[in-house]
Formats: sequence, C-alpha cells, structure tokens
Amino acid sequence: MKLLKLAAAAVIGAALLPTVQLSPAAAESDDMPVLKADINGDYLINSQDMVLMSKYLLGSGELTAEQAERADFDGDGVIDTFDLLGMRKIYVRNATVAPQGTWIGSSSDSTRYFWFNKGREGSFADISDSSSTAFSMSKWGDGIDFTLPSGDELSSTIAWLDTGHFYLKWSGSEPELFTYKSDVPFDKGPFLKGEYVSDAGNTYKLGSYSGTCGDEEISVLPMGTKAQFISSDGTAKTGDFSRMDKNHFTLKWNDGTAENFTRREITVKDGITYVNGILIANKTYALPSTYAPGGLTAEFNTAFAKMQAAAKADGRSLSICSGYRSYSYQSQLYNNYVARDGKAKADTYSARPGHSEHQTGLAADINYASDYFNTTPEAKWLAENCYKYGFIIRYPKGKDDITGYKYEAWHVRYLGEEDAKLVYDSGLTLEEYLCIDSKYSY
Ligand SMILES: [Zn+2]
Repeated sequence: MKLLKLAAAAVIGAALLPTVQLSPAAAESDDMPVLKADINGDYLINSQDMVLMSKYLLGSGELTAEQAERADFDGDGVIDTFDLLGMRKIYVRNATVAPQGTWIGSSSDSTRYFWFNKGREGSFADISDSSSTAFSMSKWGDGIDFTLPSGDELSSTIAWLDTGHFYLKWSGSEPELFTYKSDVPFDKGPFLKGEYVSDAGNTYKLGSYSGTCGDEEISVLPMGTKAQFISSDGTAKTGDFSRMDKNHFTLKWNDGTAENFTRREITVKDGITYVNGILIANKTYALPSTYAPGGLTAEFNTAFAKMQAAAKADGRSLSICSGYRSYSYQSQLYNNYVARDGKAKADTYSARPGHSEHQTGLAADINYASDYFNTTPEAKWLAENCYKYGFIIRYPKGKDDITGYKYEAWHVRYLGEEDAKLVYDSGLTLEEYLCIDSKYSY
C-alpha cells in the first residue's frame, strides 16, 4: 500500500502550520526539515553539537557549509554566541517539554498516528492497518522510553524543531518527523469503516485510518466528532461528522460544503446480489433461474402472521393474494402481459423473469393486486404499520423512476424489523436508501 510519504508530511506541515521554516537547501536534499543546532546532522541535539559549536567559536574547529547553516540558529548569516543561546533554548526545551495531543509521525517507510496524553500514556497506529497499540512513556532529559503492553521497550530521543514539529530519533533506527494535528485523541473519532458512495459522486472504501476515494489512496484521521481526509499529495480537509443511521452519515467540510455518505457494500453469492446484507431483486439486479425457495420464507410467514393479528385487532383484514412465484411462472406471466400490452407497458407493472421480488420468497401482494386496493382502509393501515412487523411498501407513490415500478400499495417486502424501520424512518425507497438503481440493462 502506498503511504503518505515524507514529502507529503512536509507539505502538510507547511500548509497547516505556517510557523515552520523549511530550509530550501535541506528540503531539496532529503525533504526533512532542518533541525537547527543539530550541527553534525544526526537528528540529535547533544554534547557533540555543543563541542563542535564551542570549538568553532573558540577558533579551534572548522564547520562545513552544511554544518554552518545549521549552526546559524537565528539565521542572521553569522555564527556567534546568540546562536549558542538559541541552541541552549532547544536543549532546555528537549529536556523539559513532552509532546501532547495527536501527532502524525512520518519516516521513509511508515506513517503513524500518535496520541500523547498528559499522564504520559497514549497509543499509536500505523495507518496501513487498523490496529492501535497503547504505550506508557517515561521521559529522562531528552530521552523518551516507550513501554508497550507486550513489555517491549523502545528508546528514543526527542529534538524539537518548533511547537508544531519534533523528531524522535529511535535507537538503532532512522528519525521520525512528528507534525502536530490536534488536541483530540485520534482514535476517539467517528466510525467510518466500510464502503460508501456519496452525493458528491465519490466512492469510498474506508478503514480505520486509511482508505481510498475512487482510485486515490487517502489517510483517514478520526478526531472526536471530526474526521480529516488526507490526500496522497498532502492536502487535507476536515469534516464535522453526523450520523443519520447505521448506513448514512454526513461530513460537513470546513469549506462549508456537505457530503452525504451512503454505505453500499454489494456482495454476490451464488448469483444472488446482497446490498449491505439485504437480498435485492429489481430491474438492475436479477436472481438466477435456479433460485427457488419454493414458497414464502419462514421469517416472512412468522412476521406476516403477527401483522395479520395486529391488523385484525384494529378491525382490518389482511390476506396474501400472491406470494412466491417461481422463475418459470414469472416468465409465463410476463410473456402473457407482453402479448397483451406490449413490452414497454408490461415493464411498468410486471417484472421480467429473474427480476421479480416475488421470486425471493420475501415479498407478497396483500388483498388485491390492483388500484382498487389503494382506497381501502387496509391500504392505509398497511402503509402506517407494516414497518413495525419488518415490512416496507416496496413501490411507493411517485417513485416510478427510482424503483422502476408504478405505485403498488399492496406489494410488501420483508426486510426484518430493524431495516424496515430504518427505511420507513428515512422516507426513502429501498433503492434510494441503499443508493442503487433499478434499470434493465437489456
Ligand atoms: Zn407484487
């Protein structure tokens, strides 16, 4: 997986924290911001640098051009005692200041999120996987030791560039550049994981900390009620998260626009299409001719009996006038309609074989499969109550273009109580709720 590279981290730093000063010479050479006062260039600020500096100031040592640039702490073109004072400031800062908040750590082979709390504990996560590891840390001078739950200890030395950047030089390893992101823990953010489509026309596959937007790899930084998406070129946008239900959320981006996300995970098993686990048969998604439950499913029948009893208690009489239909029966039915009304007209009210919801064993027509039913008290009762028993009115009024069928007050689809209530509460058709369409491709 291609990860956010150091160059990108430097761009983020420059974009979000205008205080950081990147030395042009250093940026060209290795993309790592120059650590002022780190005279020998080992990403540590220690006695070795002090010795080099002191010797130079005393006239008993030479500095290379590169070393001289790092030694010129205040950047006035002269190496003098003011630079030594600046060096001492960093020295003191490294010994006394521990990082706090959420930081992004970048090295040539990884990008990691770190959370440091005030109590010297925290966690880190490699954005290429979803796991995060807790740690406790102890700070001794500029040394920081991390203890992992496994008991392993990792030693590092901190060197601050400015308030928004520091290096950790891991013992026996290369330096990792840290860039400040937030005072909110990165792993307490909204739950975004899954496959989504958005009304901005984007398709997302999101993990805990990374993902894709179309073909582009992105890093995902969840923080409290916000989430930040970081592109591979380093640009980032932050959104306020709000969830509508388990399949829908919105990110209100900091530029004022909002993007609505619909979870859409399409799986095909034995030729049968499921969207977020819901079996789908419509004009886009067909069932194989071999799919034959033989009748309405046990779940359908149990739920229908419950609904029928509730309706009866309200003085309404519900019965099934058409339940399961096999592929071959639907085929006969459709062909008869085509012979009578023509293909175009037949397609508005009858499904082509394989496309009928009646083949699922999860759908049925109640009382009368005709417009006469619409005016009965039973139609009103069904529309208002069927969701409580796990059913939806599958083809609502005025949604012909979306469902592919004209209004059918009598046709109910069993989804189970949880999903039926979610669809009912959303006020959407099943197609809109799942962000799928219903159109013949042939
Ligand atoms: Zn029907």
